[in-house]
Amino acid sequence: MSERITCKNFDYFITSRCTLNCKLCSNYIPYLPNPFHTPKETAFREMREFFRIWDYADRIEFIGGEPLFHPEFFDILKESLRYENQFGKIRITTNGTIVPSEDTFSLIRNSDKRIEFLLDDYGPLSKNLPQIIEKCTKYDIPYRVDTYHGDSQYANGWIYFGDCATLRGYTEDEWRNVFQRCVVPTEHFVMVNNGKAFFCDYAMAMYQMNGALPEEGGYIDLFDDAIALEEKRERAKKIWQGPFSTCKYCTGFDVKNATRYPAAEQLPKV
Ligand code: SF4
Repeated sequence: MSERITCKNFDYFITSRCTLNCKLCSNYIPYLPNPFHTPKETAFREMREFFRIWDYADRIEFIGGEPLFHPEFFDILKESLRYENQFGKIRITTNGTIVPSEDTFSLIRNSDKRIEFLLDDYGPLSKNLPQIIEKCTKYDIPYRVDTYHGDSQYANGWIYFGDCATLRGYTEDEWRNVFQRCVVPTEHFVMVNNGKAFFCDYAMAMYQMNGALPEEGGYIDLFDDAIALEEKRERAKKIWQGPFSTCKYCTGFDVKNATRYPAAEQLPKV
């Protein structure tokens, strides 16, 4: 029997559209040339292929962009419940600007607390946060609020990773050190978008911005049927083994030492 393949978080990036326009967005939403909602059928296929490769994810996390902005959010959330034996929880990470539909709340309420919200509180920008909290309380839906405004910034604020295009000029040793100090390889997250699974969201953003893929692996083309499933599973086992070419462009996710910046500074919408 082949080895069981697992990850902690399946980051299900279902849209690159957002209701906010954050300068230091870790998914680089304001800078993506062709933002789009993943079509429902594509999202279903991504999930199906993901769960053929990975036997289990501790959590599916809906992210974007703003996942609740996706017009087919309900259908995609419902579809994910078909894989109930292959994940622990579902988390919906939202910026508090959109109140989910009643159908969505009903679906979540009936999920027996397997679906929860992570509510990012950006102060006045998160204008519908009180309504979402009220509904969660009413329906007994689990939620957590991370506050990102004023003097109380969760994790002391955000990190700037780079512009996805400029080499940082590391020596070979510095490149390896950036990767070793980065939490990404130890967190065992997998980001899915564009029919691909990535080891890291900076790598995913680089691909979305300029089509660059990590040279040393670190991603799996979920939709490439020419690659056998067993080969994809072998790649999944090694997906966090870096350093990667993308790390040469990155400051690293060094939770102890990275400079922190106030979250959600808005760029003008063009
Ligand atoms: S690109 Fe490399 S250094 Fe940057 S966050 Fe990803 S794994 Fe860490």
